[in-house]
Amino acid sequence: MGWRSRSCEPPGSPAAVRLRSEGQGPRTARSRKEPSVNTPVPSDTVTTFSLREALALLDDRIDGRVHIPGDPGWDEARSAWNLAVDQRPVAVVVAGSVDDLVQAVRTAKGLGLSVAPQATGHNAGPLAAGNGLADALLLRTSELRAVQVDRDLRIARVEPGALWGDVVAAVAPHGLAALAGSSHDVGVVGYTLGGGVSWLGRSHGLASNHVLAVELVTADGVLRRVDAEHDPELFWAVRGGGGDFGVVTAIEFRLFPIAEIVAGALFFPLERSEEVLQAWAAWTATVPDSVTSVGRVLRFPPMPDLPPFLSGKSFVVVEAAIQESPERADELLAPLRALGPDMDSVHPQPMPELLQLHMDPPAPVPGNGDGMLLAELPPAAVRAFVAATGPDSGSVLLSAEIRHVGGALRPDAALASAAEHGTPAPGAVAGFDAEYLVFGVGIAVPAASEALAASLGRLLSRVEPWRARADYLNFAEHERPAERLWGDRVHRLRALKNAVDPTGVIRSNHPVRR
Ligand SMILES: Cc1cc2nc3c(=O)[nH]c(=O)nc-3n(C[C@H](O)[C@H](O)[C@H](O)COP(=O)(O)OP(=O)(O)OC[C@H]3O[C@@H](n4cnc5c(N)ncnc54)[C@H](O)[C@@H]3O)c2cc1C
Repeated sequence: MGWRSRSCEPPGSPAAVRLRSEGQGPRTARSRKEPSVNTPVPSDTVTTFSLREALALLDDRIDGRVHIPGDPGWDEARSAWNLAVDQRPVAVVVAGSVDDLVQAVRTAKGLGLSVAPQATGHNAGPLAAGNGLADALLLRTSELRAVQVDRDLRIARVEPGALWGDVVAAVAPHGLAALAGSSHDVGVVGYTLGGGVSWLGRSHGLASNHVLAVELVTADGVLRRVDAEHDPELFWAVRGGGGDFGVVTAIEFRLFPIAEIVAGALFFPLERSEEVLQAWAAWTATVPDSVTSVGRVLRFPPMPDLPPFLSGKSFVVVEAAIQESPERADELLAPLRALGPDMDSVHPQPMPELLQLHMDPPAPVPGNGDGMLLAELPPAAVRAFVAATGPDSGSVLLSAEIRHVGGALRPDAALASAAEHGTPAPGAVAGFDAEYLVFGVGIAVPAASEALAASLGRLLSRVEPWRARADYLNFAEHERPAERLWGDRVHRLRALKNAVDPTGVIRSNHPVRR
């Protein structure tokens, strides 16, 4: 465990790039990548010719590769997990090593460009909005997925492209659990920089509160290790402040000795949405913090990949993960089971099975979604949710959900939890001054895009009266003012951004200076 800072000057550094741009040194541009670069580049930086040369030089120097417009693999290289997002950067750098990430930052800076790190593109919408990548290198970390586990210290160290499925598979054989998201293919780093709400959220708080150290390349091209003792301001910012402060090359976080959990879903007919969601909302007020649950409305399209009992069917569903004995879980669930679900999949299970519970897409899809935190969920708010998503709503959302947060996800509880688990004091987002988290999403096919946008808008506007003061970064899939994500803490984040990256070399999907 542990790693060192370094500040070498690799061949792709600004100095080297400038040298090549001025026509000195050996020519390395390769004809197989004769580009059709027509992407706007700031006119006061480099000519198109020197840009091509610099990118070809970078391609030669790194372990990974550089794709430019016109390459045979261009469309694949620039595509995001959310297939509805059209990413059009100057070039895509697929990193093959940590040193590639350093070189990419230095090259971007030398060219007067920005660099946008991306693991999967689950939350690429706000990054690409308004042609926002037109002056940026998209830096893919997706091939750097190693996970190291220190079983005795209960710490995982992961590379920047690691997915939650990678981490869960690596830690479960040791009887350990991570604060993973609901989906196997969400990136660990993006999720954790934004906070991270897991199925253990109400007992353990945000994933970012259990980060022990982060290694990142800052805008000056220097690789740093930040933790509670080293550069604590940067360490504070990267835990909840998002990806604006550097390209993360590794992250280290606490694991928990949890091998099994009681979890599953109760499925009811869509027509019972109001009754079931009212009962679920009332139930959430009674359960201990060992229970994290979701109430949702699901409309599955007819799809051959789905099991027949789901394909083309609609439901109102309660999902729950319960860290209790099976007997105690049965007691807790009794009021919901008394409603008589059509299907009940709740059972004790090994932790990796939790990645199936939320029925997230197994592979990239085109989506349009967005969310907001709710301060409370009184019966009128449930009625508003059902009016927007239930049987008579005309909604085309595939999923409209309400996650129960609160518990250890409250900011005041985060401090206590940090003390209990021996982790550093929380960062820029310690938790939520909110009790529920709403998210709606649908499949964004062109023929249905207007209906989908209308359904999503209806959901968010109907529950707006109960909206909390801040939104949750990871569930914000459309642009919004930075103040909505960080409230007053945005001033501290901006001051740090101005100090470490005044010209905006590092580009994130939710910039603190938006
Ligand atoms: C199907 C699905 C299920 C989800 N489930 C959950 C859930 O259970 N709980 C939850 O909290 N969230 C969940 N999310 C939201 C998810 O946490 C965010 O979309 C998150 O941003 C995804 O991170 P990523 O790296 O996969 O995405 P990306 O789009 O690749 O990254 C998002 C942003 O993170 C930053 N970033 C990524 N890598 C780096 C890096 N190496 N260095 C610096 N910055 C970086 C960048 O700013 C980037 O724009 C879910 C989303 C989807 C679509």
